[in-house]
Amino acid sequence: MRGELGPDAVSTADATLGRYGEHTLPSPDNRPAAVLYPASTADVQRIVLAANRHKVQLFPISTGQNIGLGSKSPMCSGQIVVDLGRHMNKVLEVNETLGYCEVEPGVSFQSLYDELNKRGSRLMMSPTAGPPQGSLLGNALDKGGGGGAAADHFGSVCGMEVVLGSGDLIRTGDGSLEAAEHLNWHVSKYSFGPALDGLFTQSNYGIVTRAGIWLMLRPPHIEPFFFSAADDDDLDEVIELVRPLKQTNFVPTQIRVTNDLYLIAAAESNPEYAATGGRKQISDEARRALQHKHGLGAWNISGALFGASKQAVAPQIDRLRAHFTKSSKIRYIPPEEAQAVAPLDIARKNYLGMPSDGELRMLNWRPGGGTAWFLPGMPMNGQIAHQMQKHSREICRQHGLEYMVSNVCGPRFARGVHTLVFNRSDPDEAARADQCYRALAASYAERGVFVGRAPTMYQQFHQEQRMPGIVQACDAIKRALDPNGVIAPGKYGMR
Ligand SMILES: Cc1cc2nc3c(=O)[nH]c(=O)nc-3n(C[C@H](O)[C@H](O)[C@H](O)COP(=O)(O)OP(=O)(O)OC[C@H]3O[C@@H](n4cnc5c(N)ncnc54)[C@H](O)[C@@H]3O)c2cc1C
Repeated sequence: MRGELGPDAVSTADATLGRYGEHTLPSPDNRPAAVLYPASTADVQRIVLAANRHKVQLFPISTGQNIGLGSKSPMCSGQIVVDLGRHMNKVLEVNETLGYCEVEPGVSFQSLYDELNKRGSRLMMSPTAGPPQGSLLGNALDKGGGGGAAADHFGSVCGMEVVLGSGDLIRTGDGSLEAAEHLNWHVSKYSFGPALDGLFTQSNYGIVTRAGIWLMLRPPHIEPFFFSAADDDDLDEVIELVRPLKQTNFVPTQIRVTNDLYLIAAAESNPEYAATGGRKQISDEARRALQHKHGLGAWNISGALFGASKQAVAPQIDRLRAHFTKSSKIRYIPPEEAQAVAPLDIARKNYLGMPSDGELRMLNWRPGGGTAWFLPGMPMNGQIAHQMQKHSREICRQHGLEYMVSNVCGPRFARGVHTLVFNRSDPDEAARADQCYRALAASYAERGVFVGRAPTMYQQFHQEQRMPGIVQACDAIKRALDPNGVIAPGKYGMR
């Protein structure tokens, strides 16, 4: 590869391999054998063809900011990381009229935000609450989500260029025509034949080298709103009140219903950790004191309204207040108050379309930098939501970990983003975090509740939870598109 791509396109330096092997999960690092830095689609093809010739395993990353899910590290030690982000990081097009951009894998939320600002664009993107250096494309391929009305990131992708495991190049959708230009590639979702784009999400069938991503015309005014509910048991009522707001699309953004500790962890570390040696979940008294200190409730509701001006949305805010305060448990948090509460200000920026690294501070809730994300979901039914929160809270308590969750609510379904923060340098605590993840996953699966995304170390485990027919179908597609199994064998349980 040094010969074909140039000496700087390959690194086997000790420090580099160490850095690319690191992750935050409760298992040892996975040190790659090398890191490759392609500069073009043609380079990616060369790498994949060489991997086929030499039967070596590749692990592609865009920017590798998948913190809590595997970071930059491959499925196992010895795979070769293909870091697309270092050189393939261009915004290839911003189409102001039709509202999309075409990007390479290395374009991050921050770099697109800066690029749109630089161009004085009227368009806005949907950032995640995670690392601003995360890749738009990498996040969409892992079915990530963000703030704003375009929160479904894979749903915003339209038309991809992909190097298959065989080394063949394809363009999906209207890009599949052999033509000098592709007028509809990034605007038409439903083209001729099967929609292949989904095959490249959470899979190991190919390496995506560019894609179209839809952007939204920035509304003249965005008004984030915040409410809180006092008690853990209020979740039932909260979900029943949120659902109609989404089913009528009165609130155009996702509505987040986030618990106390998920937010507070971004502001300070666990005050009881040292006293319990990290073996016990924080006490309810300490949790109450923290809620009081930060002006937050047991549950905290946020979203945003769009309108012509602040005055224009004021009547809608009044309607929201009347709606939520039908429950005596729910309190309105005025904007000036919300802005002074650091964790709510992180959410405010997210709804305004601004990347922010504020939420990353939650990794300091306990020492040792460990975090694993458990991502089940629930129907938008208050009673079920209430049962689930009690269930998750109890399993976390049994393993001496805090229950931290943000429910990202749509009209019918909410993704329950659970963050397990633990001390990765304490083997006992890391083992408890691992057991906690597995206990949560096994018990939710009994009710037919699956995860939407998984940390690399649990992908095989989750694939084994599925019906055999699906597993066989996934493996058959793998053999067809990547006959020598060179792209990330084991990823999402597919070999
Ligand atoms: C505090 C915190 C908050 C977070 N908040 C959010 C949030 O709000 N929403 C959210 O979605 N996530 C969130 N995350 C998770 C994660 O950090 C982001 O999803 C991040 O954007 C993913 O990293 P990335 O975009 O750099 O993708 P990468 O790490 O580059 O890739 C992600 C996955 O896609 C695969 N992949 C990447 N590029 C390609 C390619 N070109 N071809 C084929 N496969 C590819 C990789 O193999 C990997 O499996 C959060 C994490 C933390 C720690």
